[in-house]
Amino acid sequence: MVHLRLPPLPTIRDIIRLYGLRAERQLAQNFLLDLKLTDKIVRHAGNLEGAHVLEVGPGPGGITRSILNKGAANLVVVEKDQRFLPSLTMLCEAANERLKVIHGDIMKFNMEEEFPADLKTSWDDDPPNIHILGNLPFNVSTPLIIRWLEALSNHSGPFIYGRTRMLLTFQKEVAERLVAPVRDSQRSRLSIMAQHLCEVKHCFTIPGKAFVPKPDVDVGVVSFTPLADPLIDLPFKLVEKLVRSVFHFRRKYCRRGVESLFPLERQDLTDEIFQVTKIDPTQRPMLLTMEDFNLMCHAYYNICQRIPGMFDYNYR
Ligand code: SAM
Repeated sequence: MVHLRLPPLPTIRDIIRLYGLRAERQLAQNFLLDLKLTDKIVRHAGNLEGAHVLEVGPGPGGITRSILNKGAANLVVVEKDQRFLPSLTMLCEAANERLKVIHGDIMKFNMEEEFPADLKTSWDDDPPNIHILGNLPFNVSTPLIIRWLEALSNHSGPFIYGRTRMLLTFQKEVAERLVAPVRDSQRSRLSIMAQHLCEVKHCFTIPGKAFVPKPDVDVGVVSFTPLADPLIDLPFKLVEKLVRSVFHFRRKYCRRGVESLFPLERQDLTDEIFQVTKIDPTQRPMLLTMEDFNLMCHAYYNICQRIPGMFDYNYR
């Protein structure tokens, strides 16, 4: 395969100056200008030679250039801020039709028809040659990963193509939560939700000073490879509700969170969960293993199947 590289281009700093692309602090925009660093980020996505890639929030296009230089066959970028469109269009011309620019909001964007249908693989196969990458504002990346994890568990959205891999950035503390193992003080709802569906890696940390303007925090680059067999094979919303309830009382015994799943007068159902699973109700949430969550979710699922309307009960 021919390795496609971009022709020489103005630097990202020049692009920002030429097109007057001042970062909007209220939109939490922080740019990466160093192409060695964007190359490093993109390397962690794996081999992109001939790949089909979707990048969210390209901004002035640093990561975009690195993806193209790594030989991606096609790259779709989705950018919400229209100020970036002229400079991205300039990049399109340099990229010989490999780049498509979409002005849109990734939270509303439908990916089900964005890639050629013949790239689809079955769930048990190796991941398709499709990758999602993005350095988004933190207030977007966390709700987005939750949304994508749900799509992943339903095999919808980008996952109708199979086990599509993702590489995204998060505030460093969120990255640590995503990968936190049992007993780690950062273990949280995000750890369980991500790890029961994906192999999650905190690839490396980018110091805040690498961005322009510098954010107040450091940034973690995290990769997600969907598991062929989820560790908790139950509907996403049910798993999310149990895990959220347990970690809502993270400093208390885990029994406290389970109690909140049921009306006060039905604490027999809380007893049932601990009897069926044989989990110690005085364990702290961060000490529960993935298998403990799996057992609890199944016990909760069985109760919800048996008692109509129980899943809709909401504490408070
Ligand atoms: N990726 C570029 C980089 O690394 O230099 C820009 C990073 S900046 C932190 C985030 C970018 O995401 C901005 O260009 C912003 O306009 C864009 N963005 C924010 N919310 C978005 C959304 N919901 N959909 C698409 N793009 C979004």
